[in-house]
Amino acid sequence: MNEPHDDSVDRMEFLLGLRRRGISDQAVLRAMDEVPRERFVQPDFAEDAYADQALPIACGQTISQPYVVAYMTEQLDVRPEHRVLEVGTGSGYQAAILSRMAKEVFSVERYRTLADAARARLQALGFTNVVIETGDGLNGVPAHAPYDRIIVTAAAENVPEALAAELAEGGVMVLPLGPHSGPQRIVKFTKGPNGLERQNLIWVRFVPLLPGQAREL
Ligand code: SAH
Repeated sequence: MNEPHDDSVDRMEFLLGLRRRGISDQAVLRAMDEVPRERFVQPDFAEDAYADQALPIACGQTISQPYVVAYMTEQLDVRPEHRVLEVGTGSGYQAAILSRMAKEVFSVERYRTLADAARARLQALGFTNVVIETGDGLNGVPAHAPYDRIIVTAAAENVPEALAAELAEGGVMVLPLGPHSGPQRIVKFTKGPNGLERQNLIWVRFVPLLPGQAREL
C-alpha cells in the first residue's frame, strides 16, 4: 500500500533551502510559504512540487524553479501599493506569489490554454487580485499601464520596447535577457529621469519569449 505523501517536511525544507540560498525578504518567504505549488504543477509531478526544480506544464512550457521565482520576486522589490505586470503567465504560480505582495497583478500569456487554466486555478484558490489576459506580452498590456513593476518570465533577446514604455517613472523591471539558446542573465532595470539604469544579476535558463499569440491552443 502506498502511504499518502505528507508534504509538510518537503515544505519546511523548501523554505529552509530558499533561506540558505540567500532569500531574506520576509514578504517573499511568506508568499512562497502561502502559495501551494503542488496546485500549479501537473498531477503526475505533485510529489516533486517542493523540490527546487523547474517542471513541465502544458504547451511545452515550464513552471520556473522556486529559487528563481523567489530571487526575481525579491529583486523586483514589490510593495503593497504596487500594480504589477507579469509577461508569461504559464501555470500562474509567479502571479500567485506576486498577488500576495502587490495591490493588483496583470499577467499576459500567449497560449490561450495556459491563460484559461491559470485563471481558473487562481480563482479556485481565492487569488482575487490577478487579471490574466491572452496575448503577446511583447506588445505590453496598454489597457492597465503604467506599471510600478514588470516581470518577464521568458527569455528576451532584447529589452521589449513596449514594456520599457509601460514602466512607471521610478519603476523596476526584472527579466531574463540573453540568447534563446541560453544561458541568459537576470537583469534589473530601474526607470530614472535619464532612462533605464541596468544591473546584471544571476545566470539562468528560461523558455523563450516569442512574438505573437500562439496559433496552437
Ligand atoms: N511564470 C510562469 C512560468 C512561465 S514559462 C509560472 O509561474 O508558471 C514562460 C511562459 O511565457 C510560457 O507559458 C510562454 O508561453 C509564455 N510566453 C512566451 N512568450 C510570450 C509572449 N510574447 N507573451 C506572453 N507570454 C509569452
